This record gives sequence, C-alpha cells and structure tokens, in this order.
Amino acid sequence: MAQPLMALIRRQAPEGRIDVLAPPHVGPVFAAMAEVDEVIEAPNQHGKLQWRERWQLARRLRPSHYDRCYVLPNSAKSALVPFLAGIPERIGHHGEARYWLINRRRVSGPRERPMVEFYADLAFEPGREADQAPDPLLARDASRERAARERQGLHANEPLILLCPGAEYGPAKRWPTRHFAALASLAAMEWPEATIALIGSAKERALATEIAALSGQDLRNLCGETPLADALALIASAQGVVSNDSGMMHVAAAYRRPLVAVFGSSDPRHTPPRSPRARIEWLHLECSPCFERTCPLGHTHCLNKLAPVSVFDSLKKAMRLETERPSR
Ligand code: SF4
Repeated sequence: MAQPLMALIRRQAPEGRIDVLAPPHVGPVFAAMAEVDEVIEAPNQHGKLQWRERWQLARRLRPSHYDRCYVLPNSAKSALVPFLAGIPERIGHHGEARYWLINRRRVSGPRERPMVEFYADLAFEPGREADQAPDPLLARDASRERAARERQGLHANEPLILLCPGAEYGPAKRWPTRHFAALASLAAMEWPEATIALIGSAKERALATEIAALSGQDLRNLCGETPLADALALIASAQGVVSNDSGMMHVAAAYRRPLVAVFGSSDPRHTPPRSPRARIEWLHLECSPCFERTCPLGHTHCLNKLAPVSVFDSLKKAMRLETERPSR
C-alpha cells in the first residue's frame, strides 16, 4: 500500500534516489518496487526501542546526506532514526506524540482514509490530499519467477493456483480451514492440470497442513518453505490467487494477478485489493466491519457463512477475465 507513494515521489523527483529503510520481513516487497534504488535493513523487534541499534543505524545513514525522509508508521520510535541521522526534512502523519521528530506533519487518522491515500498524502503539502493515488504496482521479473518456480519443481508454464490462508492480524480475518479445503477440492476438479499450493509463512504451516488434509487433494504446502522473495515471484506468476485480507492479498493485487480477496472483520473500503483483476468476497453483515482480531460475538459469521462455492465462482470469473484481457 506504500508503493503509490513511491511512484508519486519518483514522479516529483525523477532523478532522485529513493532508499527504503525496512525490517527484513518486508524488505523484498520494497525491492520489487521499480522506483526503489536500495532497501536498507532496519531493526526488526516489534515494540522494542533498541536504542543502540537505532543509534548505530542512524550513524551509518548520516554520510548519505539524505534530503528528506517520509516516515510511514505512526510510532514515535519509527521517526527516531531519521532524526538521529540528521535528515533535515522529516515528513509523516501526526501519529504518536512526536512533535520534534517529524517536522512536516499531516493530521489524519488511518481509519478516515483508504491506506493507499493515507500514505500517498505524504507526497503533498499539508492541506492537499492524494485524491487520485495510483493503484499499487510491483514490477514483475521473468527470470526471478522462473528461478522461484524451478526451486519448487514447477515448470514455467505450469498453471499455478495459490491459496493464502494466513492473516497475522487474527482469526477474525482468517477464512476457516474447512472452507479453504472445500475451495481447493472444487479448484482441483475444475483445473486438474493445475498445481494448487498453499503459501505463507512458517507460522501458517499448521493451517495449511490442516487444509491439505481436509481437502483430500494433492496440495503443495509451501508455507515456510520459501523465502519471501520467492513467495513474491510465485504470486507474480500464478494464474489465480485466493487470499484473506493480508499482505499476500496486496502483493497479488499489485502484480495484477487474478485474485479473490476474502474479507471478515476488516473493511474492503479501507484496505481494498486495488487491481482490476481482483474480486472481493465480503458478506458485509450488520456487525461488520468490527476490525477485531477475534470475533467479539463469538461466532465469526462474517467468515463462517461465506460459502466456498461463492469464492470459487469469483475465482473462475477472475481467471476467465485474465484469459480474455491482455496483461497490463
Ligand atoms: S463481530 Fe461480525 S464482523 Fe466482527 S468478527 Fe464477529 S461476525 Fe465478523
């Protein structure tokens, strides 16, 4: 969702250099952005201040004499390194009390605007908003895609359908495993020539194992098996993707893959998959969106009642569209 900001900055400074300071678990996503020159690894431990590491990193950045820094997260600690690195212009949303860390502040709350525009606003003077932020777009790389497929024993042209069953946020964003399993069975019957694989992090491996067992199909469980860069390359080359509202969903959208995005407690108006090839499955119950990690009502009807056949129909439509429309 930060890529449109990169595109706007690049448009404003075509000759400029854009480096991104990012934790290792998202570095490959920024590396896949055509606008980004270099990704620099940031300290990773969520919630910890890590004074020593941040100070050392700031010292490492100083000789680069950056003119400006856009601070995307709202936390005070995320604004610390650019301040310590002596970057003169530090742009960010108001966020946590960080009056002197950010010296060009914008005031708006993340729930008030779609996240893409929320980030894209940073490219403009305060008071001006990014009404027409471009949709996120990641750059495909044929040789990386081929290599990632080879590492998984997949041929370059072998049809690949990816299921992304994880959502770090919590169970209220995870479609039930039995539904993913039923979807996998339908897909295996519809496209017997395709490889159907589950993709995600090692934390999602158990979920994927359960889905594979419940489906009774020969599914590939790639959760935890691929570095993130390979996961991106596989998504980029997939013929169809079904994902919960997660980072994987946004990656598939940014690669313009035929995609079905499953929404539970979150709101597709706030964080939609911004792609003409994406379809949204959301029941929009009276109680939704509640944005909770676990269902406060205890039933998670928003996901439990979302039928596999409905998601399957959406997937067929998304994939049909792909064969009718040339890639953009
Ligand atoms: S309250 Fe409604 S939207 Fe929230 S998790 Fe429960 S069923 Fe889903």
